[in-house]
Amino acid sequence: MSEENFETIAIRLQAERSQYKEHSVPLYLTSSYKFDDAEDMRALFAAEKEGNVYSRYANPNTSELIEKMAALEGAETGWVTATGMAAIFTTLATFLQNGDHVLSSRSVFGSTHQLLTAVFPKWGITYSYADLDKPEQWTEGIKENTKVIFVETPSNPGIDIIDLQWLADLAKEHKILLVVDNCFATPYLQQPLKLGADISIHSATKYIDGQGRTLGGIILGSAELMKQIEGFARHSGPAMSPFNAWLLSKSLETLAVRMDRHCENALKVATFLESQSNVKKVMYPFLQSHPQYEIARKQMKQGGGIVTFVIEGGVQAAAGFMDKLKMFSISANLGDTRSIATHPATSTHSKLTEAQRQEVGIEQGTIRLSIGLEHVDDILKDIQQALS
Ligand SMILES: *Cc1c(COP(=O)(O)O)cnc(C)c1O
Repeated sequence: MSEENFETIAIRLQAERSQYKEHSVPLYLTSSYKFDDAEDMRALFAAEKEGNVYSRYANPNTSELIEKMAALEGAETGWVTATGMAAIFTTLATFLQNGDHVLSSRSVFGSTHQLLTAVFPKWGITYSYADLDKPEQWTEGIKENTKVIFVETPSNPGIDIIDLQWLADLAKEHKILLVVDNCFATPYLQQPLKLGADISIHSATKYIDGQGRTLGGIILGSAELMKQIEGFARHSGPAMSPFNAWLLSKSLETLAVRMDRHCENALKVATFLESQSNVKKVMYPFLQSHPQYEIARKQMKQGGGIVTFVIEGGVQAAAGFMDKLKMFSISANLGDTRSIATHPATSTHSKLTEAQRQEVGIEQGTIRLSIGLEHVDDILKDIQQALS
């Protein structure tokens, strides 16, 4: 199957048909499974053969989603969880122990920041931050007890980028696990494992569902690492429900066409914003003005669906822009068919101090747009009237 193209795998990799020969894979709502006999039960529990035991471990729908995501991203296998945060927690909790240190990109998803700063320190796990656009901070940031490097690229909402191949080489040299939150790019735009990362994580809640309906998390990597993830997840219970797995697996069938359009629309929006006199700065990976444009071109297929810009006039101008939008939704979510505008300084990043916000590139006038799949003329028209 993996010889085939992305779109074909996303559509044609399916769980085995049942006796009803359905064309579209059905939803398996069952918490547990029957054994043929006592010997079958013993062998399954002893992991001497493959098969379903209990839906906290595996279910035909979650197995299909794992197999498909692994094939799409070039991973040996994977694991799925109820949310993106459960995927991040499960991964870090599996590979870290008391006394270990995590080196992480500074601008990480808000709840990831909370895990690193408030949850893991309770168990004696420390962290430090490095900036994506300053490679020397990564080289210098590695300590003797650093066990995991955690990175989000492109970052949210600053759209900074780091060279993943370079970072993977650095991690390998120091025998550190490189974990990439690949949520913004999806496997269609960026494949961290092929660039040398050990683990790739997705919040499937964003582009993989793509329609704002469900939560989900996905962890991808080698069979050896996933065995350890499984060991932790089977017993701690962050399982994804069969319904969500069924929904997400269907969503993957359209991921490529959706991402193509998200990216096409977003590039047009970014280019338009760059030409506006009351826009101070536009951040988008595939704009030539992006400081890491060359790296973006090297490791991403397209620029993604998120455009961040800074409006002249600070918080007042930003609020004015948001209030004038007629079609865009004001929401903290992203990766939806509907275009969304967010003002990070007063929402997702309001708990940071002004200095911390500046460190992750958020100004009072910063606005993050998640460009949806409405007609691009209508998206541009709405932005244009709100800017004027
Ligand atoms: C949303 C998000 C998460 C968390 O995912 P949930 O599914 O909401 O738990 C993690 N990382 C990034 C980059 C995200 O955007």
